[in-house]
Amino acid sequence: MSRPDTVRNVIIIGSGPAGYTAAVYAARANLAPLVFEGAVTAGGALMNTTEVENFPGFKDGIMGPDLMDGMRAQAERFGAELVTDDVTAVDLTGEVKTVTDGEGTVHRARSVILAMGSAYRELGLPREKELSGHGVSWCATCDGFFFRDQDIAVVGGGDSAIEEATFLTKFARSVTIIHRRDALRASKIMADRAHGNDKIRFAWNSEVAEIHGEGKLSGVTLRDTVTGETRELAITGLFVAIGHDPRNELITGVVDTDDAGYVLVDGRSTRTNVPGVFASGDLVDHTYRQAITAAGSGCAAALDAEHYLAALE
Ligand code: FAD
Repeated sequence: MSRPDTVRNVIIIGSGPAGYTAAVYAARANLAPLVFEGAVTAGGALMNTTEVENFPGFKDGIMGPDLMDGMRAQAERFGAELVTDDVTAVDLTGEVKTVTDGEGTVHRARSVILAMGSAYRELGLPREKELSGHGVSWCATCDGFFFRDQDIAVVGGGDSAIEEATFLTKFARSVTIIHRRDALRASKIMADRAHGNDKIRFAWNSEVAEIHGEGKLSGVTLRDTVTGETRELAITGLFVAIGHDPRNELITGVVDTDDAGYVLVDGRSTRTNVPGVFASGDLVDHTYRQAITAAGSGCAAALDAEHYLAALE
């Protein structure tokens, strides 16, 4: 049981690949970490997916929730204390930091590792969540391989949507870019690349009005944003690429972030601008956003925290 009266070595906030990996390393360094996993989303983003084929060590792939259960059990095995609750407030400024949980209990620690991840923006449509991992995806790098010779679509018109669409043409028979306007927001070089690609089609002035499929995606209804008319598009893959938001609410105004809200760290380290506070995973990562890169930076955060604590002694 957590004893709020003691000052911990380290508290970890988040239970995705970054948080659990930080917990494994911190526990094996005898730092007895306390991990807040989140109340409803313990295990992080991979709890919402099916097969993960690109995490090293699993040659036949592994289901996302099984991978996260394994990481959780590994952290527990070495003595990490896991609490399935949200952190609702933090005070990170002093040498001893405080972390308040959902029950209002205040926990204290000399260092804190932030691993809250980031949330993919959703379309907000009824079947979207149900068909996640069954045709609806937020990650072309992760799932593109599953859509060989299929007709699929990407929602969005910015650089990352075009990058995803272009990447997906390696696998798919056709990729339709569904965009609310009549021109792409992406940079000219990206847009030119998409326009020059034979496999890419465009649904201009279009938004997804409905998602269809029993057990797996079979198509979408598109609504014209100018005329309001609807039409059906038969697809077996729908990649939602309308952006993501780092979960930084807890630390806004205290820990430095960039303009998009991602936590800034010092060079290749996980050190933030606040001494004793380290950040890892998708919370700091615009670019790679993979389970393995999140796990790697969780490892780095635990090692950075360990060095910081050693220097305090
Ligand atoms: P997350 O996994 O997002 O975990 C963040 C954690 O922080 C969550 O557990 C949340 O509950 C917790 N948290 C947030 N706020 C609080 C708070 N206030 N208090 C307590 N806890 C909090 N990557 C791959 O490499 N391969 C794949 O096949 C793959 N497939 C994917 C499929 C889907 C549908 C999605 C959405 C992503 C996929 N990814 C995949 C990307 C991968 O999941 C992420 O890059 C990775 O999970 C990021 O890890 P993280 O630890 O930084 O954050």
